[in-house]
Amino acid sequence: MNAAVYVAPGVVVLREWPMPSIGPGELLLKVRGCGLCGSDIAKIRSATVTPPAVFGHEVVGDVVAVGPGVSEFEIGDRLVVAHHVPCFACHYCRRGSPSMCRGFKAVNLDPGGFAEYLRVPAPNARHAAFRVPKALSDETASFCEPLACCLRAVKRATTHAPGGVGARPGDLAWVIGLGSVGCLFVQLLRRAGVTVLASDPLPARLTLGRRFGAEVFRGPEALEERARELTGGRGVDLVMVTGGGASILRSALSVVRDGGAVHFFAGGEGDELSLPLDALYQRELTLTATYSSSPGELGEAFDLLVQGQVQVEGLVTHRLPLSRLAEGVALALDRRAVKVFVTTEPA
Ligand SMILES: [Zn+2]
Ligand SMILES: [Zn+2]
Repeated sequence: MNAAVYVAPGVVVLREWPMPSIGPGELLLKVRGCGLCGSDIAKIRSATVTPPAVFGHEVVGDVVAVGPGVSEFEIGDRLVVAHHVPCFACHYCRRGSPSMCRGFKAVNLDPGGFAEYLRVPAPNARHAAFRVPKALSDETASFCEPLACCLRAVKRATTHAPGGVGARPGDLAWVIGLGSVGCLFVQLLRRAGVTVLASDPLPARLTLGRRFGAEVFRGPEALEERARELTGGRGVDLVMVTGGGASILRSALSVVRDGGAVHFFAGGEGDELSLPLDALYQRELTLTATYSSSPGELGEAFDLLVQGQVQVEGLVTHRLPLSRLAEGVALALDRRAVKVFVTTEPA
């Protein structure tokens, strides 16, 4: 079969890849399409994964074979599947950190969503696979995994507990970056009763952000002024960072209120944060982050998409065949694409 294979840092090419075979509890999926995630791009650009490898984890595909013991799914089912599943039993899992479970990343789709076929391991078939209803497009279904990660981030960044950190209903948040993830955050925060200001330098993305319910700004200066106006000078309760690297922290610290929180939903490709400890301490600030999501959150995200409670129209700007994955990466990197959906349809 064909796959878009990562062969060296920065290089993906269409290549022959061994067809996976399945065992008990497993599924063989013929991939229909797979969303290109920022984390795929980071892996393609850095030397953290040993080549050759196939990435892609926002997968929609058709079941073409089922292993012994599978009763939940049958041949012909269209599924959305995610890549990692925790063990549900270890200290991390029991403490609400399933994505830190030592087994989490060991469970993975084989080889990945940027291939014509993939093997869904038994834990994924049991806990991270969902049958897609007819009315839902492949593109919309593929948002299940990224939306689950955003859902987890919003849970970790919002609270109803007195003295707890983050935003609660009636509060004000700043979403930095209106890519696909930023647009999901706008909607989830609004659902949590939070008023959202959002910023992005690109006019087309401001249009998107406004459509999803944010008051939008091209840069931090005008946004800061508006935040102060809305809060009697206090500042926003929560900043959600979806991009911009380490340098964004300075703006975030100037706009967040005393006692507020800054949530990082983005790696920095080697960047380090510079944070005045006096500000952290004297202003009682909280820095939080989210990595990935749990099977429970995948289920919640899937339901939100099926029920149409979170909208993704307009987020997929490019639909490219597997052979053009490298082009998709370039489009995403220079921000011409909001979300790239890679399909196995012929070019
Ligand atoms: Zn992802
Ligand atoms: Zn575990």
